[in-house]
Amino acid sequence: MTEPDSLWCKVVKARCETRGGSSWWNDITSACVLEGWNWFENGAQKLVREGNDTAFWTESWLGNESLQSRFPRLYNLSKQKRYSVKNMGMWSNGVWHWDFKWRRSLRGREEAWLEELMGMLMFENANEEGDSDSDPAFASIWTVCAPSNVRAFVWRLLLDRLPTRDNLRRRHLLGEDDDARCPLCQQADETSEHLFSLCPVTTRLWSACYAWRGMQSVLSASVREHFLQFPMIGRSKKQQAGEWALWMSLVWTVWMLRNKVVFQGANVELENTSKLIQVKSWQWVKAKVDGFSYSWFEWRSNPSACMDLL
Ligand SMILES: [Zn+2]
Repeated sequence: MTEPDSLWCKVVKARCETRGGSSWWNDITSACVLEGWNWFENGAQKLVREGNDTAFWTESWLGNESLQSRFPRLYNLSKQKRYSVKNMGMWSNGVWHWDFKWRRSLRGREEAWLEELMGMLMFENANEEGDSDSDPAFASIWTVCAPSNVRAFVWRLLLDRLPTRDNLRRRHLLGEDDDARCPLCQQADETSEHLFSLCPVTTRLWSACYAWRGMQSVLSASVREHFLQFPMIGRSKKQQAGEWALWMSLVWTVWMLRNKVVFQGANVELENTSKLIQVKSWQWVKAKVDGFSYSWFEWRSNPSACMDLL
């Protein structure tokens, strides 16, 4: 199964070398540097073959649906509608670079779709999720006062497509002998559900977050349910978008922390992490909501009161 020269491995390497922006890619980048990617090359089961004749957009070469039907808007914007997989990129210094050409620059949700597409190019994909657009959780993501890369991250989280250790192992990207335990607590396998809901470290962050909002809550173990239940009852859509910013800042900060622990050997530091969650949510809401005039001090003292007046 080891095919170090396969397009698949080179795609991954190319991404590792060319992108450093979002956390997901940072994670992959760090993994390249620190873990050598042997487990990836040894374990990748579904390798993209040379792709001479396969039409990139119109054939079902990734999963059981064409990329054209999976991402119709991106397809419409593509200037490479008839290109084969092989013509969608190039080799440079022995690594594969995808080279997408668009009729105009991508914006908003289109960027998130591109990240999703890149995620599919990374991981063996099964379109098992059904129509996520009709799911209220997925429909809500795009309304939230958070940066687009964070919303795209949450999208992947709700689809359970983050490269948690459990996901990597299930996709045969992590060997049976490799450590799949949660890097924050070392007490259970690192599933999304564990990392973002059940982990004792995360639970303490959620408790601090609820206390900060002046609420008590029983946490749902399901990440999706928890996301849907998070806004207070009776909130307007705008207020919900602000409350979900808190939710997103927490899961995003947990993921950042987890990556620092995994790839930089950082320690778990709860107090600073809690503060970071508060700061980020304030910055995000401030950036997205016109006329939001609350100071950091006001937000920190009583976010719910600030949210009341959104
Ligand atoms: Zn844990």
